[in-house]
Amino acid sequence: MYDVIVRQAKIADGSLIDIAIQDGKLAAVGQLPPDVTATRTLDLHGQYWLSAGWIDSHVHCYPKSPIYHDEADRVGIDSGVTTVIDAGSTGADDVDDFYQLTRQAKTRVYAFLNIARTGIVTQNELADMAQIDKVGVAQAIADHPDFIIGLKARMSSSVVGKNGIQPLLRAKEMQQENQGLPLMVHIGNNPPDLDEIADLLAAGDIITHCYNGKPNRILTPQGQLREAVKRALERGVLLDVGHGSASFSFAVAEMAIRQGILPHTISSDIYCRNRISGPVHSLATVMSKFFSVGMTLPQVIDCVTCHAADALRLGGKGRLEVGADADLTLFELQHVPQVFIDSEGLSKAGEQLLVPLAAIVAGEVILTAEGKSKNVFDL
Ligand SMILES: [Zn+2]
Repeated sequence: MYDVIVRQAKIADGSLIDIAIQDGKLAAVGQLPPDVTATRTLDLHGQYWLSAGWIDSHVHCYPKSPIYHDEADRVGIDSGVTTVIDAGSTGADDVDDFYQLTRQAKTRVYAFLNIARTGIVTQNELADMAQIDKVGVAQAIADHPDFIIGLKARMSSSVVGKNGIQPLLRAKEMQQENQGLPLMVHIGNNPPDLDEIADLLAAGDIITHCYNGKPNRILTPQGQLREAVKRALERGVLLDVGHGSASFSFAVAEMAIRQGILPHTISSDIYCRNRISGPVHSLATVMSKFFSVGMTLPQVIDCVTCHAADALRLGGKGRLEVGADADLTLFELQHVPQVFIDSEGLSKAGEQLLVPLAAIVAGEVILTAEGKSKNVFDL
């Protein structure tokens, strides 16, 4: 007898599978005999979709952050997201406090540590090089090896002030000194110029806000991929969406995707204000926007499951396989006309909307508001 069985779930390739969960892990994946029992059975009757738990690679959920704050479960399980990675809200000074606060969340929370010891307290945390404290960073990583999964450097003009590319050079040094942890680099207005940033990045480094519409974007004014970004992608640098309030342009995404420049990970850059007032709303909304720029359901799901788990080195996540963490997202794909808005305030029509119905975290089933109202598991 298992803890939970999910029967007849539709997965991204359209096939139907059953899943059994025991002690917080996936115990069976495939077709289960009819006589197998569990404490709780959810029969989706081939009507609802299931994937490995969604991972949002770029959120802000340190509740005490003065600008970009939120609660982990508001950006996580409330919208079917089982794992969130806070992208640099905290630095060495306050990551302990952030870690403690996240222990109460049902959502699994990890952090990219801001290379500035203050995190994002002001908008210009890298304008003073004295904020970049190697000893503090190394100590924080040593104190929280299972929480801090990487480093974050925000490399745009308002953040770095007169320091140009210098903070990124320090970030790369710290990455070397700390087991080569993933490094997420935010791009925006120049200086520093994106070419200069891209040339410093290596395989596994992550560019977030990859489809921003600012002049310092990945495409040239003629719409071609910048040579420096092309070389970076060839070296294995990864593109992360990081939609946010100012960093996603439908026009840029569409032009890039048409040239085969797909995102490696789709993330929201969500926090309370852009969650409530838009244009982000939820990871599901951000994912749905990619149907309108030429991506398929399997491609979109891969971006928030296996791609994210690999990029962030989250072992046991992102795949429906025996022994993996029993983190799952149950959702519906609604076919109804939509109008989506990007960060430039421009709209685009769509026909499909992902609606999360439940997050399952370590085998615990947590319905979203939609899931509750539909009584999908009233069995
Ligand atoms: Zn962000």
